[in-house]
Amino acid sequence: MNFIAIIILVAFVADFVLHVLADMLNLRMLDDELPAEFEGTYDPEQYRKSQKYLQVNTRLGWVVSAFNLMVILVFWFGRGFPMLDHWVRSWNQGPVFTGLIYFGFLAFFKAILAIPFSVYATFVIEGRFGFNRTTWTTYITDRLKGVLLSIVLGGPLLAAILAFFEYAGTNAWWYCWIATTLYMFGVQFVAPTWIMPLFNKFAPLESGALKSAILSYANSIHFPVKNVYVMDGSKRSSKSNAFFTGFGRHKRIVLFDTLIKQHSIAQLVTVLAHEMGHYKKKHIFISMALGILQMGFMLFLLSFFISYQGLFDAFYLQQTSVYAGLIFFAMLFSPLEFFLGVLMQIISRKNETAADRFAVETTAAPQAMVDALKRLAADNLSNLTPHPFYVFLNYSHPPVLERIRAISGEAR
Ligand SMILES: [Zn+2]
Repeated sequence: MNFIAIIILVAFVADFVLHVLADMLNLRMLDDELPAEFEGTYDPEQYRKSQKYLQVNTRLGWVVSAFNLMVILVFWFGRGFPMLDHWVRSWNQGPVFTGLIYFGFLAFFKAILAIPFSVYATFVIEGRFGFNRTTWTTYITDRLKGVLLSIVLGGPLLAAILAFFEYAGTNAWWYCWIATTLYMFGVQFVAPTWIMPLFNKFAPLESGALKSAILSYANSIHFPVKNVYVMDGSKRSSKSNAFFTGFGRHKRIVLFDTLIKQHSIAQLVTVLAHEMGHYKKKHIFISMALGILQMGFMLFLLSFFISYQGLFDAFYLQQTSVYAGLIFFAMLFSPLEFFLGVLMQIISRKNETAADRFAVETTAAPQAMVDALKRLAADNLSNLTPHPFYVFLNYSHPPVLERIRAISGEAR
């Protein structure tokens, strides 16, 4: 075992242990006493249910992580990488096509192994807690569409990256950077109009009291209301949500039909105001820019490692190749990726607070916003008392009580 193998092995195990530790701390925070802010929103029965939901999901998470860790170690030390390499090389194709097959098989195995857990999560756990609305037909067509999309969208990009590193020499990393950046913009641009409608129906807001309320708010902050859509989220789950997507003339704010059903008009306006806050404060643009910078940094490092023999030795490969180098480098990069991910979460949580502030300032309805957050948390059985370390590792949003307290503080 060489030095690189030891780094990767330690990173895998440390990541597993760290997340299980955070989960255990998180479960220990569960308390029978309902936080005062939620009196009247959650009844004791519902609150107990939310805690059970967290326990059940945490346990499934442990099983999945332990299983994945075991599979990767068995494949790695059982010399799965060189065996697969030997086999795809026997097809006698060019390096780019061979790479696509290599990636394709690994992705295929990974997807197959994930199916039982995803079926269990959707139909057993979500079903038991009354969230699941996914039929088997929807589930199966979702998976098939997902596979087709990753082939159609991911295949050409992967082929381009393989070709650049194969043929463009030292320039490859920044050629790849430009290609992935253009690609990311392209996908973001067409996602709301071409990709997302493959999975859900999007309808413009219907005329009525909600539309007029949103119209008058949107006008006050100069946002075109024709970009507000309703999505049939109820097709898969009774959980509710709202989000912002796309940019330019394709930008959209999307409200789940489940959200509209469970919230008052005043509450919905504050939810919408929060999403517009992300847009007005340029959060979408900033997080994309950070993603692009991270991609550049990663490709730059990759250019040093892609033909480094030690990386291939770590996985028992005698022959170097661009495709295997990409996969092994991704594993070597995972500790750095972990820290970058934590940093991105910190930025994301700050942005969420800023979007909340924007919503309170522009709607002047802090109470409606607080009520909306409480309703959302209760309907989705959110954990009200996460452990700070768990939040630090996993949360893209501040915990709901923190948000409510910040909003109430703003109101004073
Ligand atoms: Zn947000």
